[in-house]
Order: sequence, then C-alpha cells, then structure tokens
Amino acid sequence: MPSDQESTQASFERDWLRFDREHVWHPYSSMTAPITAYPVRSAQGVRILLENGRELIDGMSSWWSAIHGYNHPVLNAALRHQLDDMAHVMFGGLTHKPAVRLAAHLIDLTPAPLQHVFFADSGSVAVEVAIKMAIQYWYAQGETERSKLLTIRNGYHGDTFAAMSVCDPVGGMHELFSGVLPKHIFTRAPQCRRDEDWSEIEIAELQQFLRSQAHEIAAVILEPIVQGAGGMRFYCPQYLRRVRELCDEHDVLLIADEIATGFGRTGRMFACEHADIAPDILCLGKALTGGYMTLAATLTTSRIAHGISASDPGVFMHGPTFMANPLACAVANANIDLLLQSDWQKHISDIETGLEQGLAPCREFPGVREVRVLGAIGVVELEHPVDMHWMPEQFVQRGVWVRPFRNLVYVMPPYIINADDLARLCAAIVEVVKVAAERLVM
Ligand SMILES: *Cc1c(COP(=O)(O)O)cnc(C)c1O
Repeated sequence: MPSDQESTQASFERDWLRFDREHVWHPYSSMTAPITAYPVRSAQGVRILLENGRELIDGMSSWWSAIHGYNHPVLNAALRHQLDDMAHVMFGGLTHKPAVRLAAHLIDLTPAPLQHVFFADSGSVAVEVAIKMAIQYWYAQGETERSKLLTIRNGYHGDTFAAMSVCDPVGGMHELFSGVLPKHIFTRAPQCRRDEDWSEIEIAELQQFLRSQAHEIAAVILEPIVQGAGGMRFYCPQYLRRVRELCDEHDVLLIADEIATGFGRTGRMFACEHADIAPDILCLGKALTGGYMTLAATLTTSRIAHGISASDPGVFMHGPTFMANPLACAVANANIDLLLQSDWQKHISDIETGLEQGLAPCREFPGVREVRVLGAIGVVELEHPVDMHWMPEQFVQRGVWVRPFRNLVYVMPPYIINADDLARLCAAIVEVVKVAAERLVM
C-alpha cells in the first residue's frame, strides 16, 4: 500500500495539467476554453525543454526578458551567492549593497539627467510610479490641475489601472473598464518609419494638444521607437526628438516607457538613444534581471526628485513590500555586467541581419501585411488575427517557441542565439505563415 503522501504525489503527477486547466489563470486566459499551455521541464540557453522531451528554440526571451538565455551559470551563481546573505529585507529604514549597486549601474547607463531610482516590483507598477511622480511633482509646484496624461495610440504600458488608462483605447481594455479608468488624451500614433519620411504633419495633433491643454497635462507618456504589445510598431527618431522639444517648449514632462526596449533590444542600450534624447522619467523592467525575477525601476531627474521632496507631503508616496528585493537586485547586477562584458551590439546586429533575411520570404505570401525588423525584434504582421488554438501548436511541432498575438507573429530571441538556431526559428515562421495563408485561401 502506498502511503497517503505517495498516492497524493502520484495523483498530482497524473492530474496536474488538468488541475492547471481548471484552476490556474494564465495571462489573458479563459477558465472554460483555455488554449494549450505546454508543460516545461527546464530551460537551458536558447532551448525550452518540454515534459515530453521535445526541445523548442526560444523566440520570445520570455517576453523580452531572458536576454542571455536560460539557466545561465553566472546569473545562477549571483542568486545563490546573494541567497547566502539574505533573500529579502524590507527597504523602509534599511538598505543594502545589491540595491545601491544596481541604482549606480542604472544611473550610469541611462541618459545623464536621470539621477534618482525607485525600485518597483513589476513593469506595470513602474509605470504607476512614473505617473504618480509626474502628478506629485506638479502638485508640489502648486499646479494641482495637472492630472492628465497625453499619449499616442497603439501604446502598451501594462495591466494595472493607471497603466491601462494610457494603453491603446481600441486594442486595450478601455471599453470594459470605461467606468473606472481616468480619461486621458490620445493622439495619433506616428506613421513615419525613417527620418527621411519626416513631415511636421506627424506631430501636428500632439502639438495642438500641448498648445491648448498644457496647463492640465502632467506628462506625455510613450514607448520610444518601438510600440510593443500595442501593435509591434516602429517609428522614426525624429518624432521622438520633436516630442522632447515640444514637451520642453510647453513645460510638460516626458515619461519614456522602456520596459520592453531597454537593455539593447533595439540595437541601442536604450531606445531613447536613437533620438539622442533624455526623458524626465524612465521606466525599466523585463530584461532588467535577465528574465530571472520580477523587478522594475523608475528613474527620474533631480528637478523632479527635489521638487517632490521640497514641498508637502515632502516624501514620494509609494513603497511596495518587496521594494528592491536583494535577490532580484543581485541578479540584475550580474545581468548588466554580463551584457556590458559581451559584444552585444554585434550580436544584435547579427540577429537583425538574420531576421531580415530569414523572414523576408513572408513578404510574398497572401495575407501578410508587412514584415519589419529592428534590432533583435522581427515582426510579421498579418491581415487577419491568428488562430490561437492552431498556430502555437504548429510552432511547437516545428521545434520553436513563438507566441503570436492578434494579427502579429513576432520574435525577440535571446541575444545569445546562434545563426543556425535563428535560421531555424525564421524558417519555422515562414512555413507556418505560409500554411496559415493557404488555410485562409481554401
Ligand atoms: C511588459 C510591459 C509593461 C508591463 O510590465 P509588467 O512587468 O508585465 O507589469 C509596461 N510597458 C511596456 C512597454 C511593456 O512592454
């Protein structure tokens, strides 16, 4: 007779996937008609190993984050080392080297005016913190009217309420939560691709909003150069330069959300560098810990930090329980060291070339609207939404991990991916997109 514990263990082994389907939410999932969640046993380098023994080449970096791949010995060692000292202590009234070292790292890497760091526990919270900083800054200046945000359509800034309120009003969740979401100002998303296409018409509407409503606008918030989960759109640096100029002209703050683009993904350490601008507030997350732990950061200038501190209530009103978690900070430090020691610019530019060549055949297929590549990001935009009960399975069968959304099949592989794996990843996309096009025609 097995003991009770053994039989519980045995029944868990038998039933855990059913339990997962029936009881565990996954991102944007249904409890009644869930799409397949593939059971993962482990991950190593650019490979995700499924429970059934199948190996997948990772095209997603676990949503922009695992830039050095999985199970990295240096990152593992950093965590183990920190664990021997402490996993966590509260950050209220206490401090520790991992956090301070990370803050110094971030101040060093980001544009010069950014001098003060707030550690948050996820990207969405970093965006909440950024918005709160902007509003509290103006409050401290006696400008209590300044509570609106101005943003561009097709944006994505996270799933918490303030972050949701600046996500794209059509693609986002505005309708569902319209009763509770604050109303902000939306302007057309930039259409320009390269600086040569530049026309002032791009910026005319945003300029008009700033002219007429600056007195009630706390900040412009946007994702620089790459709009991620709102449509995987790339836009020209000149747009960003003009936004910076107009914000200065009208004394409105600029919040750059680099949670997806930060740490090299677009070919520059931060996407703001494409336009050579510095935001007043910068949000970082995702790749910050190399995909190991949840951690985010909001950086700001001395003007804002001192402004907030100089008047009532005299403190910045935020402080999460797990703020600056030492394990997360330690692995973030090791992650940044690894990145700086690597020839990341070359890796990204090789990936860019590989994606350009590898995805190009998709341009010929019916049902493909556009193929675009920037840095280590490759996007195949289709005419129609993807069948999420069909397409992910197609990728898994071909030994790659690609998770499309809406009408977008896109990849942002770990920077360490080699040319062969990248070619296989692209070949799988070309095949699946081709079959998808044929399915539509039939
Ligand atoms: C992912 C993302 C967020 C939200 O980060 P979470 O860690 O998922 O809360 C915010 N902004 C951008 C641009 C993102 O890509």
